Amino acid sequence: MADITTADCVIIGAGFAGAATAYHLTRNGARDIVVLEQEAIPGVHSSGRNASMVRQVVADSALAKLTEEGAAFLRSPPPDFPESPRFEQNGSLLLASGEGWRRLARDAEMARSLGMSAECWTRERAVAHVPALENAEFEGAVWSATDGVVDIHALLTGYLKAARAAGAEIRYRSRVRSIDVHAGRVAAVVTDDGVIKTEKVVDAAGPWALTVARLAGAVDAPLHPCRRHLYITSPIASVDRKWPFVWDVTHEFYFRPDSGGLLLCPCDQEEMAPCDAQTDEAVAEILFDKIRRYLPALSEVAIRKHWAGLRTLSADGRFIIGPDPKVKGFFWVAGLGGHGVTTSSAVGALAARMIGSDAGGAAESFSPARFAA
Ligand SMILES: Cc1cc2nc3c(=O)[nH]c(=O)nc-3n(C[C@H](O)[C@H](O)[C@H](O)COP(=O)(O)OP(=O)(O)OC[C@H]3O[C@@H](n4cnc5c(N)ncnc54)[C@H](O)[C@@H]3O)c2cc1C
Repeated sequence: MADITTADCVIIGAGFAGAATAYHLTRNGARDIVVLEQEAIPGVHSSGRNASMVRQVVADSALAKLTEEGAAFLRSPPPDFPESPRFEQNGSLLLASGEGWRRLARDAEMARSLGMSAECWTRERAVAHVPALENAEFEGAVWSATDGVVDIHALLTGYLKAARAAGAEIRYRSRVRSIDVHAGRVAAVVTDDGVIKTEKVVDAAGPWALTVARLAGAVDAPLHPCRRHLYITSPIASVDRKWPFVWDVTHEFYFRPDSGGLLLCPCDQEEMAPCDAQTDEAVAEILFDKIRRYLPALSEVAIRKHWAGLRTLSADGRFIIGPDPKVKGFFWVAGLGGHGVTTSSAVGALAARMIGSDAGGAAESFSPARFAA
């Protein structure tokens, strides 16, 4: 007979969305929480395959509040946070040209109004800071001194360890097969191992979030998993490990120091069904084409390894965080796109507040209700 247990809240997914939500729920006093992860370890999907960059300047003001709050947590986690994830605050340079430069300068102004550090730099100043930008094609740069790179494995493990120490149970190799809903309310979650009776389910299933939502008959929020590749070069003598990450938002590519060489990304975006994202050798040509055109100083780099992961974007690009409008007790923490590391703590804190409040909380900007129609 199937094992039947109970929990106050079941979180589906142990990536940054699920782990940070579990962390903040337990910080708020919740104890009877179960996190279900289909893989044998955390971070197999997006949360373990990203570029580890903490970027605060973005165009959307609602998102900017989360990037600012999330980055503040990563720069100085609470003293009792396990693992103390290393944060290398080398800053960031966002580059742009033409109308894109005017837009970026406006984003920087908005970031400053929210208390973030974001200076507009001339081309010359940016090249002096990162000599590899010599002959690169851009008009101006935004410098964010408090951006950086975080140890994502220590961070993800830290959220999970802290949640477990406070009473949460984390079950690996535990895939959710169905969700029982009675009279419009969540009643139980069914896995291969058994049934967990619960009145609250958190959908933190990343690329599979819509698949999970459909198990409960929740709103059909449009979510698009999109593949992106990352490349690591062989060591390069001229790379200074103190360089910031550099993101050309006009031509869409980024790079940052890694293992004595560079991590490079062509910002490819191919929509696909949720999966264990495999690499496509043809994408390297997109990367090298961009380097030759816009970053000629790096034309000779040799690639040592590469991988791909999925960024899951909602139809309007905004996160989906909050109570489902159709199924009581079903909460979304999904669609974190390319910002799930930076914002993880802020997203977890926001979700935990909403899950913990009897009324379900008001999600406003991120509400799944915007897709109800
Ligand atoms: C190439 C790339 C670069 C990126 N760079 C950055 C960056 O520099 N900075 C940044 O802030 N963000 C970055 N991101 C985005 C960031 O990685 C994501 O926003 C974040 O990891 C999403 O976390 P998640 O928990 O929603 O998803 P995931 O990490 O995918 O976690 C979802 C989990 O749910 C589990 N699951 C799914 N279905 C079930 C089920 N039925 N039962 C049980 N478990 C289930 C999955 O196994 C998975 O572990 C990048 C992403 C990619 C792909």
